[in-house]
Amino acid sequence: NGVLMSQMSRPCQMMLLVNPQSGKGQALTLYNNHIQRMLNEAGIKHTLVITERQNHAREMVKEADLSQWDALVIMSGDGLLYEVINGLLERPDWEEAIRTPLGILPGGSGNALAASIHHYSGASPVTSEELLVSCGFLLCKGLVSHMDMVSVHLCSSPRLFSFLSLAWGFVADVDIESEKYRHFGAVRFTIGTLVRLASLRVYKGRLAYLPATKDHNSEEALRSNTMLCKDRVPPVTLPAVRDSSFHNSCHSNNSLKVRRVESTPSRSATKALPGPHDSLLPPLDQPLPDDWVVVPEEDFVLMLAMYQSHLAEDLLAAPEATPDDGVIHLFYVRAGISPTALLRLFLAMEKGAHLTTNCQHLVYTKVQALRLEPYSPKGIITVDGEVVEYGPVQAEVHRGLSRLITG
Ligand code: ADP
Ligand code: MG
Repeated sequence: NGVLMSQMSRPCQMMLLVNPQSGKGQALTLYNNHIQRMLNEAGIKHTLVITERQNHAREMVKEADLSQWDALVIMSGDGLLYEVINGLLERPDWEEAIRTPLGILPGGSGNALAASIHHYSGASPVTSEELLVSCGFLLCKGLVSHMDMVSVHLCSSPRLFSFLSLAWGFVADVDIESEKYRHFGAVRFTIGTLVRLASLRVYKGRLAYLPATKDHNSEEALRSNTMLCKDRVPPVTLPAVRDSSFHNSCHSNNSLKVRRVESTPSRSATKALPGPHDSLLPPLDQPLPDDWVVVPEEDFVLMLAMYQSHLAEDLLAAPEATPDDGVIHLFYVRAGISPTALLRLFLAMEKGAHLTTNCQHLVYTKVQALRLEPYSPKGIITVDGEVVEYGPVQAEVHRGLSRLITG
């Protein structure tokens, strides 16, 4: 399917970060019941690290000796991977660090990336423990793809990185308001959606974007991107070699080490910040270049920027998305849509059919960068499902910056 893949090589040692509080609080039980045996049978040596609090994983990967690890795998929701990615990109050696293969096993309530990986494998949709088993299997296969990373600029917070989504309006509100239903698992989003539909509101702001160029989708761009990173990435095979798995090159040591890593205080931000240069974004308080498109509407029900296929386990928001298409799939819904029509959109999204429902209020476009300036002083913006500073925000995609184990 044109997705760049390489085989995990070298004797492999995996760090498996588990958030015991994620989702229904069952991640450790799920590990014991499903994952431990799978990894051991596949001969994958792994070290279990149980996170103790928010930002523990972020601080840990920021300081870790990455030469020890062939893959960092998280078992939680998307929130823990968000921490890991931002920790990696805060390192002085970020360029090397972000090339560490990353994996995800759905253990939380928001498991959008895990659902996306399962979707990319071509298998028919599943949820819950079936999704976990599928992702465990794909992880054991160990094929690595490139994954896009989006840098996000906020008004006064440091730049951050996102692998999944940027949301404002309805979707962001539901995501955060539904956290109190986390113990229901993935159903939390359905409950949250119904609650929010009952008090549907309009969000005012200015939205602008830089359209994706045609060659962003072409195979040629994909190749030139590979050429650029050729000397820095593990050997890339195209088409993918799918007949051997990364456990073949692993030590046959099945031992499981359990380690609780003590926390370290986070360092203050340095002046020369690590991470890739954002070539498309002027400073947030400066006007945008002429080739940007300003959306004529200023009244919205939602804005959703996606870079992977799934918004939640059962929401195929961007059916066309692939891990490294170098595209931000931008959706917005204009104000004036009825609650019933919006519900219909979300129901259709379960099968990724929302774009074919002919909803006049829904707009979909592919972009390289975007800027949103909300007019209201208060509200919710989420990045990968986590709340960030509210206010003007802009983002730019970095094609294939990271590595993801997709199987
Ligand atoms: P969920 O899908 O259930 O929201 P996440 O992976 O998104 O699961 O995790 C939710 C939050 O929990 C994240 O913000 C993460 O930083 C935080 N977290 C990680 N480890 C712990 C812990 N041991 N106790 C409490 N919170 C934690
Ligand atoms: Mg979460």
